[in-house]
Amino acid sequence: MRPKLAELTNRARELFDDLDLKAVRAWKEAAPGRKAVGHMPIYVPRELIHAAGMLPVGIGGGGDRLEIIRGDAFFQSYICHIPRSTIELALSHRLDALDGMLFPSICDVIRNLSGMWTMLFPDRYVRYVDVPQNYERAVGGTYWRRELDILREELGRLAGHPVSDADLSRSIGVYNENRAAIRELYEARSRHPWFYPTSEVFLFLRAGNLLPPEEHTAMLRQYLKLAPLEADRCEQDQSRVVLVGMFCEQPPLGLLLTLERAGCWVVDDDLLLGLRWITCDTPTEGDPLQNLVEAYLNHSAVTASRYLPDGDHGRGLVESVRQNRAEGVIFCAPSFCDPTLLEQPMLVRALEREGIPHTQFKYSEDTGQFAVIREQAGTFSDSIRLWSEA
Ligand code: SF4
Repeated sequence: MRPKLAELTNRARELFDDLDLKAVRAWKEAAPGRKAVGHMPIYVPRELIHAAGMLPVGIGGGGDRLEIIRGDAFFQSYICHIPRSTIELALSHRLDALDGMLFPSICDVIRNLSGMWTMLFPDRYVRYVDVPQNYERAVGGTYWRRELDILREELGRLAGHPVSDADLSRSIGVYNENRAAIRELYEARSRHPWFYPTSEVFLFLRAGNLLPPEEHTAMLRQYLKLAPLEADRCEQDQSRVVLVGMFCEQPPLGLLLTLERAGCWVVDDDLLLGLRWITCDTPTEGDPLQNLVEAYLNHSAVTASRYLPDGDHGRGLVESVRQNRAEGVIFCAPSFCDPTLLEQPMLVRALEREGIPHTQFKYSEDTGQFAVIREQAGTFSDSIRLWSEA
C-alpha cells in the first residue's frame, strides 16, 4: 500500500479501535468548555448537536475487542450483544467523555437501555429520541417538530447557549457534505468494488462515529482519490452481492474480510445506516427545524426499524440489487435482532418473486470463528456465478 493510503487507513483503524474515546477527549481538550453527546445507531438529528457546538459521537458497541464482565448481568441471554457491550463500555468508564446520550427508538432493547442509563448515570443528560413511525406531515410531522423543538432547547441548555437558526442551517450544510461524500463512496464502490473493499470502507465509515463531520468528509474524499491508485487493486472474478441486516449492531471486521476472501464483492449494504439515514440534501434556506422534519418524513432510509406500508417491504432491496447490478443478496443479521429477523421473511419473499438468489446467516459483534461463514459465502458466490453463466 502506498504511504499516503497506508497512513489514512491506519488512522481509520486507530479510530475503529478507540473504545476509550481518546479522539473525543482530545477534541474536548483542544478548546475550553467543549462537550460531546453520544448516540446509539440509526437516526438522530446530529445537526442539532453540531449546531450547539458539541461533538456528536456514534456508539457502535464493543465489537470483538471488549471482554464483557458486568454487561451480561443487565440482560437476559436471548437478546443481541450491543446493549451488553455498551453497558460494559459505560461501567468501565470508557464513555466518561460523553456529557449526554441519545437513544433513538430502534427497538425495545434500546428503549430499555435508555431507562438503565437514566438510573445508572442520573447526573448525565439522557434522552430517548422517539422518532415518528407515521410519515404524514399533519401527524408524524407535527409530532416530530415538537420533539425537535424540545431537543433543541435541551441541547442548548447542555451546551450553555441557545441553538440559533443560523447555526443550525450551517450544520445542515455540513452534514449534507458528509452524506454526499458517503454517497459518492458507495457509488464508486458499486462501479469498482476492487478499488474500495468493504472491509476498508467499513473502517472509513466507522471513523464518522468519532470525528467531527468536517474532518470525516475530508478523510472520505482523500480515500476516494487514493484507493484507485493502488496498483494491485484490479478486477477479479468475484460475485457482486448486497449485504443486508447490519444497520444496528455492526459485524466484526473479520466477517467482512471473510466475505471478500470467499469471493464476494459487496456492492451495497446497510452498515452504519444512521450516518446516511437522510438520502438527499436537506435545504439550508428557510426554517431549519422544519427542513429537518421534511427530510425525515420524505427522505429517510428504508430499513427494518421504520414503518413501511404492506407490500413495500423488499422493494428497496430489489431496487438496490438492480441498481448495483448485484447477483445475489446475503442476509447478515445480528443474533436475536427482532427488527431485522422479523422483516427477513418479507424480504426473502420479494427476492424470490424476482428470482434473486440469497443466503443468510447470523453473527454477533464478537463472533470470532468464520470458517462456516466462509464455506457458506464461498459456496453461494460460486453457485451464483455458475447460474449467471448458465
Ligand atoms: S441489534 Fe437489533 S435488537 Fe439489538 S439493539 Fe440493535 S436493533 Fe435492537
